[in-house]
Amino acid sequence: MSELMKWFESVETDAPFDSCKVCAHPLAFSESWVVNKHYHRNECMMEYAVCEECRDEISSSFSEESKTAIRAFLENKIDWEQRMLEWMALQNTVERLDRCVACQIPRVLQDGYAISAQFQQDGTLIEGALPLLMCSDCVAKITATLSPHSREVWRDFVARNFEGPGRGDIDFGIF
Ligand SMILES: [Zn+2]
Ligand SMILES: [Zn+2]
Repeated sequence: MSELMKWFESVETDAPFDSCKVCAHPLAFSESWVVNKHYHRNECMMEYAVCEECRDEISSSFSEESKTAIRAFLENKIDWEQRMLEWMALQNTVERLDRCVACQIPRVLQDGYAISAQFQQDGTLIEGALPLLMCSDCVAKITATLSPHSREVWRDFVARNFEGPGRGDIDFGIF
């Protein structure tokens, strides 16, 4: 088990995610899925895997303007060319999670952050724009660009799928 895979296991079950948080179908039925985990002070506050179908459905319920705003942030605030060069030079892929993909501030200096990775049907990681880590400040900047409707979609997703106080305060996940 690589260090990177360990990061994307479920804290709750101490095993890789095996079902979609939304439709509850086994992830093995999906061609790909994304795992997102939100941390605060190194404690995992929220974690989930979402299958490709549900992910498409959620993102299609976001307004066009929000989708454009998210894309603009990801394209303009992240120096992808530079990141790809850095990532290719890493000894270990897990080092991708050492700093925020956007502002580059090291994880050890962050109060909160979210990590995201994409997997394919055989359970292996797809290496591309993901896996990545984004600090809470940068996630909050994306959240701020969302339309009220899209923020509602996100809050609804959290309320429907997670129990416990304070979850509603968690900023938008990286879909
Ligand atoms: Zn699903
Ligand atoms: Zn950041």
